[in-house]
Amino acid sequence: VAPRNRLVCNAHVSDSLAARLATIVGTGNVFADADRRATYETDWTRRFSGPARLVARPGSTAEVAAVLGACADAGAAVVPQGGNTGLVGGSVPRGGEVVLSTLRLTSIESLDAAAGEVTVGAGLTVAALNEAAAAHGLRFGVDLASRDSATLGGMAATNAGGINVVRYGMMRAQVLGMEAALPDGGIVSRLFGVGRDNTGYDLPNLFVGSEGTLAVVSKLRLRLVPMLPQRAVVLLAFDTLGAAIETALRARREVEALTAAECFFAEGLDLVCRHAGIPAPFTGRWPYYILLEAAARTDQSMALAGAVADAPGVRDSALATDARDRTRLWAYRDRHTEAINAEGVPHKLDVAIPLARLDEFAKEVRAVVLDLSPAAQVVLFGHIAEGNLHVNILGFAPDDERPDEAVLRLVASMGGSISAEHGIGVAKARWLELTRPPADIAAMRAVKAALDPRGIMNPGVLFPRPESQVPRRE
Ligand SMILES: Cc1cc2nc3c(=O)[nH]c(=O)nc-3n(C[C@H](O)[C@H](O)[C@H](O)COP(=O)(O)OP(=O)(O)OC[C@H]3O[C@@H](n4cnc5c(N)ncnc54)[C@H](O)[C@@H]3O)c2cc1C
Repeated sequence: VAPRNRLVCNAHVSDSLAARLATIVGTGNVFADADRRATYETDWTRRFSGPARLVARPGSTAEVAAVLGACADAGAAVVPQGGNTGLVGGSVPRGGEVVLSTLRLTSIESLDAAAGEVTVGAGLTVAALNEAAAAHGLRFGVDLASRDSATLGGMAATNAGGINVVRYGMMRAQVLGMEAALPDGGIVSRLFGVGRDNTGYDLPNLFVGSEGTLAVVSKLRLRLVPMLPQRAVVLLAFDTLGAAIETALRARREVEALTAAECFFAEGLDLVCRHAGIPAPFTGRWPYYILLEAAARTDQSMALAGAVADAPGVRDSALATDARDRTRLWAYRDRHTEAINAEGVPHKLDVAIPLARLDEFAKEVRAVVLDLSPAAQVVLFGHIAEGNLHVNILGFAPDDERPDEAVLRLVASMGGSISAEHGIGVAKARWLELTRPPADIAAMRAVKAALDPRGIMNPGVLFPRPESQVPRRE
């Protein structure tokens, strides 16, 4: 499949920049040859891709800052990249940028089990952090299906959400301190400190969700949560989405230990079963499914089953209390993204809708997409308690933006958000104005101009590039 945004590399490889970066990160950690660059140049969806000028892999905060300083001096644009699992095209070059990979920043500097805190390098993955924390009976509060590759720095940069937001909040709620390098080579160090500190702007909070447009996060001090050994999972089938939503909300009210409330639809379940070669969960095929999980130190199966036992509209159910069954039920939800990707290059639109209109949206979104192409396929799944649906559309060329526009306009008309957790990236930059008023965008641009006056940090992400600066397409 021809990736979208395949661009001609219009910046000549500057030997002097490569040489300067090599003195900072070592010759083995800066490279320009096509073979070694390749994995840094295409995103997880394969929809976004472009050639990098160079890839640099700094090994410390000081090196990150020095790389940024050198790039600023050379007027070279920089794309920060962590695990490259982002789904909005913000982690890969558009044409000629330096990719600054954080994959060498994997330190675990201090894990304070008593305080429930850890200080880590931004390139550490969630899975690696969880492995270290497990030895202390702890885990990280944000979990997502990309856990083996997604880095904590990338998750801070996108304010990642995932499957446990209903219990622990999004990435922002886990960040206690941060070290970050600025495009002028300066370092903001707010890693440690006292629990209450109202001294001026909360810069770490500003960098959370900034998608690599303001600074490169190099270290994080993060909250850890107790590992809760007793986990119960229930999968429920419904014939109306309204009943599924009501049941999820009832569980949120009544099950104190609720850690996840997820949803998927029949089309997605069919894809997962076919792709993974696993049997359907129930003998009947129902249009809507929710998966609820509760976790605590004591058995939660009665509390969970009790809360949903007489819920109206339940057509079938399965309860899992042992690890094997829990994994089996979670697979129906967790494997959606890979199953969809196996079908083609999807348009992925991660949106949030007020819960009162979620049912209406789920119907309307199919109508607007099928109106553009009756052969298209729409696969919905997501985090039902927050009204967060991942709208996956198959059947359009990667660079055909008509379905994106139609869906995002529908979201805006219903009072929703065009990005619930994945960010704006380049994929949605054109439509930021749909849900952010002009004064808001002007303030964001002013912040960007103040911290990155030369515009070297991830150009084209969040704010569309002026036409004159868009790299030439092949
Ligand atoms: C199977 C699958 C499931 C997923 N599920 C979820 C989910 O449930 N919830 C969710 O929120 N997301 C989900 N995602 C999306 C993705 O995993 C998250 O956005 C994640 O936070 C990206 O982390 P990363 O390290 O891969 O960042 P990258 O993809 O490398 O980068 C993402 C953005 O952050 C910037 N960036 C990366 N590192 C830094 C840094 N250190 N400093 C500054 N900027 C940086 C990049 O420039 C880019 O704009 C999923 C993705 C996949 C493939």
